[in-house]
Amino acid sequence: MTENHSISIIVPVLNEEGSLEKLYLESTNSLKIYSNWELIFIDDGSDDESNNIMRKLADNDDRVSVIQFFKNFGKADALSEGFKQAKGDIIITIDADLQDDPAEIPRLITKIQEGWDVVSGWKKDRKDPASKRIPSKLFNLVTRIFTGIKIHDFNCGLKAYRRKVVKSIDIYGGLHRYIPAIAGQKGFSVTEIEVNHRPREFGETKYGGNRLFHGFFDLFTMLFTGKYFDRPLHFFGSIGLFFIIISTGCEIFPIYDKLVNGIPFQIHFALIVFGAMVFGLGLWFFSIGLLGELLIKASGTSEKKIHSVYSKKQK
Ligand code: UDP
Ligand code: MG
Repeated sequence: MTENHSISIIVPVLNEEGSLEKLYLESTNSLKIYSNWELIFIDDGSDDESNNIMRKLADNDDRVSVIQFFKNFGKADALSEGFKQAKGDIIITIDADLQDDPAEIPRLITKIQEGWDVVSGWKKDRKDPASKRIPSKLFNLVTRIFTGIKIHDFNCGLKAYRRKVVKSIDIYGGLHRYIPAIAGQKGFSVTEIEVNHRPREFGETKYGGNRLFHGFFDLFTMLFTGKYFDRPLHFFGSIGLFFIIISTGCEIFPIYDKLVNGIPFQIHFALIVFGAMVFGLGLWFFSIGLLGELLIKASGTSEKKIHSVYSKKQK
């Protein structure tokens, strides 16, 4: 059964000279039960020996290819390019630093063969310092709540996809952290399996403490470009409505107090001014929503919905 599938392994690489040869050996070893596979290195602007090492590996094995970027564009762009180039039915992504274990690849593939569209690794026993583990727990919790996708480890480097998934998602910036969420929003089935994780033995991490900060902006990008992008007025309008209701309360209360208790308006002066300001804020949110709707209408960039068209005429 395994032989029927073609498999593409995508490896984003930024200065990982220490681990590449071992990664290649461990991957070939784990892939030997499959007859048809390719391994694509995406060199995301390395300036160490990485590129020479990858080219050497490609010279000796025609299943290996190297795509070299002009400069460092980031992991999301590297993966995205890999997705474009991949020829396999099943696409695997794996980090180049050997923290992900290539021996797990067959288990991911089996899970895809069971029928899942996306299988995400879960580094349950994560071998990284607490300074990485704790922000990551928070990140995963928030992402789980916002997206409704029930997995523990959105940002695991080791994942498997059906071809149709990688050909229909577009990632850039920091969005690689949200691929399961983006795929889930598009209606693909997403699951996870626990995978072995190892300490970083070679080179050093490319991400510092500011990733959590960037991560939350990316969360908004992901939420907007997915679910809300088609209806900004619904999102901004709800916020606007909330402010307008509050402001109405602020204006009605002094009128009520005057009519019922005879309290003069001057007593509630601050509240009346506050209400007027909040009303302005509400209108502002409404306008932003309306502008968003106009933009979408003018640019015609609402999300693509049609997967394919099938009719007798085309046969
Ligand atoms: N990486 C990349 N471009 C970047 C940053 C990282 O291609 O701009 C690669 C890196 O070489 C590694 C993977 O992405 O293969 C994950 O990076 P890293 O191991 O530094 O992340 P961490 O495991 O510390 O979260
Ligand atoms: Mg790593």
